[in-house]
Amino acid sequence: MLDKKLLLGKNVADSITKDVVKDVEDLKSKGINPTIAMLKVGNREEDAAYQRAASNRCSKCGIDVRIIELDENCSEEEYIKALNSLNTDESIHGILCFRPLAKQIREEIVADTINPVKDIDCFSPINMAKLMSNDNTGYAPCTAKAVIEILDFYDINIKSENISVLGRSLVVGKPLALLLMNRDATVRVCHSKTKDIEKIASDSDILISCMGRAKMLDSRFVKEDAVLIDVGINFDEEGNMCGDVDFDSVIDKVGKITPVPRGVGSVTTSVLVKHLVKACKSLNNL
Ligand code: NAP
Repeated sequence: MLDKKLLLGKNVADSITKDVVKDVEDLKSKGINPTIAMLKVGNREEDAAYQRAASNRCSKCGIDVRIIELDENCSEEEYIKALNSLNTDESIHGILCFRPLAKQIREEIVADTINPVKDIDCFSPINMAKLMSNDNTGYAPCTAKAVIEILDFYDINIKSENISVLGRSLVVGKPLALLLMNRDATVRVCHSKTKDIEKIASDSDILISCMGRAKMLDSRFVKEDAVLIDVGINFDEEGNMCGDVDFDSVIDKVGKITPVPRGVGSVTTSVLVKHLVKACKSLNNL
């Protein structure tokens, strides 16, 4: 019974990876070696964890990885110089800038510098504008896109559905709301200033949480048989990873739910490699 309710990320990630492997083989047969560059400052634990997961996914797909690690005290000028050199390096097809950026480096400068064609995690305002205008030649942020991939893989209808997104960050909530609207969903977006989130959430057929608030959503926030997508990655008092949803409190009431871990997080890196292949094809006019 529980198994039927779980929307496991691995199944989605495996399916995307399978297609990417085929694409990479095809590119290699044409003499093209798909390569991603990961640009980071210092060696923060969160970056290291994502780098490991992304590098493993790339290696499964036959994608080369180049890591550029700048000193934690590097200047903004040095960062931009490194980014510009990746922009013009023809052997690099996609660039991942680890977020959040180091405090001495301004988001807007990086966003304006990164080559939009290589911007596979939607840093550039050009890609954000493409998302707004439903132009599929750009790239959505990988986590927001991962949510859509999960809904599609498990055949969960989006069109005309009553969906609430809890969170409005530029990396997850806002772009996700746009992706859903582009697919004809009716979307409500909640944030820290929203009044009565419980009422809005418990009236939603699909509830997607990206607030970063450990186990905040208990059964009162959930409609009977709703689909719950939990993007949050938090740690509880015992130091265990958990989502924004109080899993034990909602499991009997929900129709379907992504667990944390083993949910959205495992799909994000497969979207990253899918975007890398798209960028590689586009740069080679394929
Ligand atoms: P963020 O920038 O901190 O944004 C959090 C959003 O949630 C904000 O819009 C904030 O509202 C809203 N919020 C916070 N507390 C709230 C509350 N009590 N009630 C209503 N709204 C509230 O975080 P983020 O970067 O979007 O990440 C969100 C979560 O997703 C984090 O747990 C993060 O670790 C996780 N994440 C997961 C993946 C993955 O691959 N699974 C990737 C990226 C992030 P305001 O705008 O009003 O402040």
